[in-house]
Amino acid sequence: QEDVFKKLIAHCKEYGFVFPSSEIYDGLGAVYDYGQNGVELKNNIKKYWWDSMVLLNENVVGIDAAIFMHPTTWKASGHVDAFNDPLIDNKDSKKRYRADVLIEDLLAKYDDKMSKEVEKAAKRFGASFDEAVFRSTNERVLENQAKRDEIHTRFVKALNDSDLAELKAIIEDYEVVCPISGTRNWTDVRQFNLMFSTEMGSTAEGAMKIYLRPETAQGIFVNFLNVQKTGRMKIPFGIAQIGKAFRNEIVARQFIFRMREFEQMEMQFFVRPGEEMKWFEHWKAFRLKWHKALGLGDQKYRFHDHDKLAHYANAATDIEFEMPFGFKEVEGIHSRTDFDLSSHEKFSGKNIKYFDPEINQSYVPYVIETSIGVDRTFLSIMAASYKEETLEGGDSRVVLTLPPVLAPVKACVMPLVKKDGLPEIAREIINDLKFDFKCAYDEKDSIGKRYRRQDAVGTPFCITVDHQTPEDKSVTIRHRDSMLQERVAIADLHKIIGDAVNM
Ligand code: ATP
Repeated sequence: QEDVFKKLIAHCKEYGFVFPSSEIYDGLGAVYDYGQNGVELKNNIKKYWWDSMVLLNENVVGIDAAIFMHPTTWKASGHVDAFNDPLIDNKDSKKRYRADVLIEDLLAKYDDKMSKEVEKAAKRFGASFDEAVFRSTNERVLENQAKRDEIHTRFVKALNDSDLAELKAIIEDYEVVCPISGTRNWTDVRQFNLMFSTEMGSTAEGAMKIYLRPETAQGIFVNFLNVQKTGRMKIPFGIAQIGKAFRNEIVARQFIFRMREFEQMEMQFFVRPGEEMKWFEHWKAFRLKWHKALGLGDQKYRFHDHDKLAHYANAATDIEFEMPFGFKEVEGIHSRTDFDLSSHEKFSGKNIKYFDPEINQSYVPYVIETSIGVDRTFLSIMAASYKEETLEGGDSRVVLTLPPVLAPVKACVMPLVKKDGLPEIAREIINDLKFDFKCAYDEKDSIGKRYRRQDAVGTPFCITVDHQTPEDKSVTIRHRDSMLQERVAIADLHKIIGDAVNM
C-alpha cells in the first residue's frame, strides 16, 4: 500500500497533476501546486460540489468572502484562544510530533497486533474472523485488547480535559510499541496555535496583526444578515463557499492530505433552534450520497462520530475515505449550535437575530455545517482511480479510471497519420466539441502509445480519424476502461461524450 502511494505521488508529478511548491528551490513543506491536469480535475471537483449544493438546492446560495478578516473575528470564533494542537518534541531525534496523532498511531499499532493474533486463531479454529474474536480466549489477544482499551479511555479523557501532562504520560507509558520513537526522551506537551499571522498597514503604529483564515466558515457567519436580508432568505437556508484556508500544521505528511495552504468547500445551513438534529441527519445522508455518486466504491466510505467535540459543536461526524494509508477524514459535518453567531453578536455589539415570521419570534439561528477539503477529495479520487493493469498478451498499462464528469480531458482526437487531410478533420472535430468538452489533440507516436498517454491522465475517450473518415464521416471511439473500440458517426460524438460526462 505504501508502495502504491509512492507511485501515485510520482504519477501526479509526471503527468502534470501536482508539483511540490517552488520546486526549483527544493520545495516548501506541505505546500503544493496543481499542474495543467490537476487544475482541471480540481475545478471539476469544485463545480460538481457547487452544482449539487447551490444549483440543485433552491434554499442554498453562495458567497466569496475575503481571506483577510477583521482580527476580532478570530477572537469571537475561539481560534485565537483554542485553535491549538498539542505538540511534543523528541529530544534525541529532534523530531516534532502532534501528541494526539502519536497516540492514534499507538492505538492503530495495537489494533494491528490484535487482528494478526485473531487471524491466526481463526485459521486454527477454521472459523470466520468475527467468530474467532468471539471465541478467542487467546491470552495475547485479550492482553492487547485490554491495553488498547486502557489507552483509548485515558486518551479520550485527556483530550476532553485538555490534560497535556497526561498526554505525555500516555506516550511515555506505551511508547515501547510506538513505531516512530526509539527513545523515552520527550519534552513536555505544549499547545501550538495553528493560525498564520501577518501585518496589515504600512506605518509602524498603524500596523495591525491579522490572520490568514484557518477556515472559510467565519466569512459566512459575518455575512449572515447581509445575505439573509438582500436575498430575502427564509430559514431554513444555507450559504456555501469555496476558498483557501491556511493552517500551520505541525506534522506535514501524506502529500496533499495535510497541507499548510489548502482549499475548503463549506456550507453553513441556518435552522430553527431545536431542529438542528433533524437537519444534521439530513445533511449527513445528503453528503454521503454525494460521495458515493462518484462511483469510487461504496465500501470505501464510513462515518466516524467524534469522541471529543470541538468547543462549538453539539454533534459531529466525519466522512472517512479509505486512503492508501487507511480510513481518513475527507469531510466534517458539524452541528455548531448558535455558538458562532452569538459570539459575533457579543464581540461586535450588533444584533444578528433572525425574525421568523412563521412563529413570530426572533432568535439566533442554529447551524449545521458541511466542510469538505478540495485537496483531500482530489487525493481520494486519484487514489481510487490509479490502477496498474496487466493486459492480454502480457502488456501492462497505468490507467486513471476517473469519474468521467471529473476527468481533466474528456476526449483526445488523433489522426491515424499526419497526412492525407486527416489532421485537418481531427481539428474540425475538436472545433466542434471544444465549447462543451475539454479536448486534446495528439498526432505523435503510434496509436497504442497515444492511448497509453491518455489512459495515464484518465481521458475517457480517444477518437481516431483514419482513411475511412473522409469517405463516410465516421471515426473510431475507444473507451478508456474497457478499451473497446467502436465505429461511430462524427455527428454522434457530441451526444456520446455528453451522455458519459454529464451527471
Ligand atoms: P484533521 O483532524 O485531519 O486535522 P480537521 O478535523 O481539523 O482535520 P476540519 O477543521 O473539520 O478538519 O476541516 C474540514 C475539512 O477541511 C477536513 O475534512 C479536510 O478535508 C479539510 N482540511 C482540514 N485541514 C486540512 C489540511 N491541513 N490540509 C488539507 N485539507 C484539510
